[in-house]
Amino acid sequence: EGGETRLRVVLRVRPLTCTETRRGDQQVVHSLGDGAVHVSAARHDATFGFSAVFDAGASQEAVFEGSGMRQLVELAMDGFSCTVFAFGQTGSGKTYTLMGPLAQSESQPASPALLGLMQRSFTCLLEHSRSRGSDLALTASYLEIYNEQVRDLLSPGPPCSLPLRWSKTRGFYVENQLSVEFQSLEAIVSLLLQGSQRRRTSAHALNRHSSRSHALLTIHIRSRAVSAACPSKQGTLCFVDLAGSERVKETGSSGELSVEANSINRSLLALGHCISLLAKSRGKRTHIPYRDSKLTRLLARSLGGSGITLMVACISPSSRCLSETLSTLHYASRARRVTTRP
Ligand code: ADP
Ligand code: MG
Repeated sequence: EGGETRLRVVLRVRPLTCTETRRGDQQVVHSLGDGAVHVSAARHDATFGFSAVFDAGASQEAVFEGSGMRQLVELAMDGFSCTVFAFGQTGSGKTYTLMGPLAQSESQPASPALLGLMQRSFTCLLEHSRSRGSDLALTASYLEIYNEQVRDLLSPGPPCSLPLRWSKTRGFYVENQLSVEFQSLEAIVSLLLQGSQRRRTSAHALNRHSSRSHALLTIHIRSRAVSAACPSKQGTLCFVDLAGSERVKETGSSGELSVEANSINRSLLALGHCISLLAKSRGKRTHIPYRDSKLTRLLARSLGGSGITLMVACISPSSRCLSETLSTLHYASRARRVTTRP
């Protein structure tokens, strides 16, 4: 429609965890099929619709194939700026969806069937690259936003903060970020692991390996010009693992943890604010406050610019998470009205 495309929003409902089952938590979220999901609890009864809903039984492969992730990889190879982001409450399955479960140890990697959207996308990308006779140059960069500071997860040494700048041609960009070339699946997976280990996580009541920062892994795909009819293209594929929203009271955060929580919540609030403004029709839109946080600056193109974006909203089915679940569902429904101009 006039060169506009909508954000694609899919929902993933994780299974109840052992702790939740043992506690006897009620399951309040039910998939109705056809992208509809129903929430029923004491005073709440609501149905929401998405492009696709993956319930507790959905495999990692089903999420990759059914979410449109494969198409997103192909669009990135065609020169578009593509972004997938996972959001939802802490412990709702964002990291699991993107990366799969944590490997128990180096020698005991997670089973291939459990690999997440990222590893599956890398495989797809490298397969295409090989079949095209390796005319693609692939590089990766990996950043985190921790307490409103942008840090490089790939550069060695203690994390230092990088400046975030704006230019007319590039929009918002991070200066001096490291970009590492890779040619094999092993190489990119090892970059992902290295970076993830440097990411700020702290254990708290809801999730033993809770991510305390927003992480952005970007694959830059450059294809050489084959002929005048087929010029060189430069696309990107960005994976965003947002730190989860949380209520300081529920997670038992205090001191440094509550400073982190407040900065996480503030940037998520800024993101939510931008999304609700972007969800209005273009004619009625006012200024979009991307500058309110580093996160919204870095996502400006994906949300309101020339990017193509897939959102994976993650929720827990437990009655105890009801209010966070409803807030994620409202947020995700609103995002479905956002359009970009790829
Ligand atoms: P988040 O990144 O949103 O904080 P995680 O991805 O770390 O949450 O998930 C929290 C816990 O739930 C982890 O132990 C993870 O292995 C488990 N989990 C999440 N999603 C699923 C799923 N679809 N199937 C099985 N276990 C899951
Ligand atoms: Mg996480």
